[in-house]
Amino acid sequence: MRSTMPDFPLTLQHFLWRATTLFPTKEIVTRRESSRHRYTYAQFGQRVAQLAHALKELGVGAGDRVGTLAWNNYRHLELYFAVPGAGAVLHTLNPRLFPEHLQYVINDAEDKVIFVDASILPALQRIADDIKGVKHFVVMTDGPSPDGQLKPMLSYEDLLSGRPTSYPWPQIDERDAAAMCYTSGTTGKPKGVVYSHRSSVLHSFGIAIGGGIGLQESDSILPIVPMFHANAWGLPYAATMLGAKQVFADRFLDPVSLTELIRDEAVTFSAGVPSVWIPLLQHLDKTGTDLHGLRMFVGGSALSAGLYDGLTRHGIDTNQGWGMTETSPVAAVATIKSAMKDTDPKAIRLKQGLPLAGVELRLADVDSGRPVAWDGKSVGEIQVRGPWVTAGYYRGVDADRFTADGWLRTGDVANVDSEGYAQIVDRTKDLVKSGGEWISSVELESAIMGHPKVLEAAVIGVPHPKWTERPVAYVVAKPEFKGALTQEEILEYLRPLVAKWWLPDEVRFIDEIPKTSVGKFDKKVIREQARQAPAIVRPSE
Ligand code: ADP
Repeated sequence: MRSTMPDFPLTLQHFLWRATTLFPTKEIVTRRESSRHRYTYAQFGQRVAQLAHALKELGVGAGDRVGTLAWNNYRHLELYFAVPGAGAVLHTLNPRLFPEHLQYVINDAEDKVIFVDASILPALQRIADDIKGVKHFVVMTDGPSPDGQLKPMLSYEDLLSGRPTSYPWPQIDERDAAAMCYTSGTTGKPKGVVYSHRSSVLHSFGIAIGGGIGLQESDSILPIVPMFHANAWGLPYAATMLGAKQVFADRFLDPVSLTELIRDEAVTFSAGVPSVWIPLLQHLDKTGTDLHGLRMFVGGSALSAGLYDGLTRHGIDTNQGWGMTETSPVAAVATIKSAMKDTDPKAIRLKQGLPLAGVELRLADVDSGRPVAWDGKSVGEIQVRGPWVTAGYYRGVDADRFTADGWLRTGDVANVDSEGYAQIVDRTKDLVKSGGEWISSVELESAIMGHPKVLEAAVIGVPHPKWTERPVAYVVAKPEFKGALTQEEILEYLRPLVAKWWLPDEVRFIDEIPKTSVGKFDKKVIREQARQAPAIVRPSE
């Protein structure tokens, strides 16, 4: 028997309609150099319509890719809705990519138009000769459009000016592409993931509900995670869907600017990778600023005990989620089951969490692929599937990342406890293989970062003649302890926390851990540094 329900298309156009119709006076605020830009959803909707008219005039048709090279700001949000709403595909570009990667993804996606923030223009100028397929460049600036090699160069504001403030949005098949994003290349050449309207809508539902991240119309939402990093984890779409106030920090990510923005705009929810919260926490410690009541969502890399404790000390309700570009990206969140309300929340939130409603997760033996028990100890690779988990990469590359029965092989090694909480132990390629056993670099890093004098720590495996590999820790001391922290202090601190054979063979003190384009520890670079200056490997007994 068929239902009486229609296949009413799940498209992002609905979110735009809902926010502008039901919440026309709610605000969208963007930090600028010396002021803030603010307008309402009603004004936002009018500009989105003007932008859709402009796209049409530029010759952007259904399925055409439109690149954006921009920070988190209101113009970027306008593109988030005008491009997919008009039936084209939003391709968010990461300005921190190496020029050869940036050029590669623009050409691979065949971007027809690129919208670029004036402050990022130089990144594009550098590769001007190698992206000949792009027909138009549009600069997003308040002033006149700057001159450069990129032709034709248009101004965003000129493009919108005088156009009609409503648009006859076309009917779209929910399965059509709405946006695309490339993996940041931490593990090789960037690979394209293409999101549909349907997957983006369902992901928004999945993260907004109580058992997901839990977002409300009454929230004031500040995504620190860049809008080029997996759609800012879906927050701009979910926030618009709800009609929540949205706050954007643009490129002003220093702790002083962020705390100011959070306090002034009464931000209730923010999200980002640990490397943005570490300096913020330092700032809070130093100034005693009170951010009581703020909910903070950490993802992209593991939330360490030290960071959790620190943020909690300042009254910040800290939670963690796990996901990948391939999973839209949020696939699991460390929500606390009602039956576990008496458990120490920290024990739960330091895990990567329960799969969201809509996502199925299984644990498979890394070598044999056989199911691994959910006992909180046995480890295997996380495999996932669901309506917002990609079933392949753009152009069909790397098909072996998907199992024959349609699950994504995430490359993340984890255990899952009997309640269903996954705890990531490592990425397959980051595990340290010592004497036939695995050492979790993530766990070691988290333990080291719990030391009161440590700011950041990354652990890699270095080749060892007897044990195959041994862990070496790269540690950044807090500024006030620079030069006053020793290897022995770190090892002493670790001894009661980890097995003896897990103790790093060497602790190297450096000024800063190299980061990837999305702010994660860049172990590729650290390994290269280690190769050039081999660590002194102790003959571990
Ligand atoms: P890239 O793969 O280029 O780093 P992604 O942002 O897609 O770009 O990274 C996804 C990966 O980030 C996951 O496979 C996982 O290894 C890591 N990750 C994401 N969230 C967490 C988390 N909460 N804890 C530990 N690792 C995480």
